[in-house]
Amino acid sequence: MASDPHCVFCKIIEGTVPSRKVYEDEELFAFHDIAPWAPVHFLILPKRHIASMAQLTEQDAAMMGRIMTLAPRLALEQGCRPYPGGGWRVVINTGAEGGQEVHHLHVHVIGGPRPWLKG
Ligand code: 5GP
Ligand code: ZN
Repeated sequence: MASDPHCVFCKIIEGTVPSRKVYEDEELFAFHDIAPWAPVHFLILPKRHIASMAQLTEQDAAMMGRIMTLAPRLALEQGCRPYPGGGWRVVINTGAEGGQEVHHLHVHVIGGPRPWLKG
């Protein structure tokens, strides 16, 4: 489905739930995590409601590629220091045992000077 009326991330994308937006284009959306683990912690997600990484198909390869190439650009814009002295972490929690809490596929980008709360 394009949008799930019960999904908090669909509501953020639609603007009915507020967020601190980092980036938006026709296909992708990014916003700061409400409970950051580190000085930089934002999420990149497809605007289309996809429950998790487990639902990805070959048709999503280009979209996921766009997320992975957008991540370094946004990480630097948001204050991560450059590789190799700086850097960031990318995490995709998937399913209950993967620690996924919100069931709209999202990629965490986490970085900035340590120490971090987690990790
Ligand atoms: P997951 O465990 O599903 O990979 O991560 C979900 C993330 O979304 C968590 O880090 C959590 O802090 C964040 N989150 C959950 N609800 C909201 C919200 O309403 N607004 C924002 N900005 N982040 C949220
Ligand atoms: Zn959704």
